[in-house]
Amino acid sequence: MQKGILFILSGFAGSGKGTIVKELLKRYDNYALSVSATTRAPRPGERDGREYFFKTKEEFEAMISADELLEHAQYVGNYYGTPKKYVEEVLNSGKDVILEIEQQGGFQIKEKCPDALLVFVMPPSVKEIYNRLKKRGTEDEETIMKRMKQGSKEAEVIAGYDYLIINDDLDKCVENIHATVQCAKFATGRNADLINDVITGFGDFLKGNV
Ligand code: 5GP
Repeated sequence: MQKGILFILSGFAGSGKGTIVKELLKRYDNYALSVSATTRAPRPGERDGREYFFKTKEEFEAMISADELLEHAQYVGNYYGTPKKYVEEVLNSGKDVILEIEQQGGFQIKEKCPDALLVFVMPPSVKEIYNRLKKRGTEDEETIMKRMKQGSKEAEVIAGYDYLIINDDLDKCVENIHATVQCAKFATGRNADLINDVITGFGDFLKGNV
């Protein structure tokens, strides 16, 4: 069985990543979502173990020391990290694992797992990013401005991602992302066994063994 794709989805705050992930999980059965650990406080409606595993700073640092995280980063004053064990188990079962993480984490993963797929998603304009954050209504103006400043830094390194997809029309965006993940499965680098089989097959054929 082919191992699943480790699929990193990043994007500016307000780019609609959360909705995209929900749609991917709802529409297709090849995905599993990794739930991250964080030290940020839960937003209204968020539940421990569903959106995040909410940790204290001390608990999070203990996870780092125990090497329990595949990657971790600080983002707007809080720690965020991906628990390693779940990701490894699910990839080995053949499912594609979605990590909805920010860029520092994405780049750490790319270094550790070069065949991970990095997709960056963004709204059609910067003004639209601000409008979406405002409309979400979960953060005050100061936090929104922090996220906009963070966004301007993130824009500088988008080119380090494998693919860039615009989220203007949600349906189209979800389809494009799914197509990108499917496409990655046909990459030669992921199909070494198939290539070896065909090489052996030709050898056998030419020796008259077929
Ligand atoms: P939020 O606080 O809005 O839920 O998330 C803030 C940022 O942290 C988002 O860009 C989100 O993708 C990112 N994030 C969530 N979980 C992780 C994680 O496990 N690792 C890293 N590096 N970033 C994460």
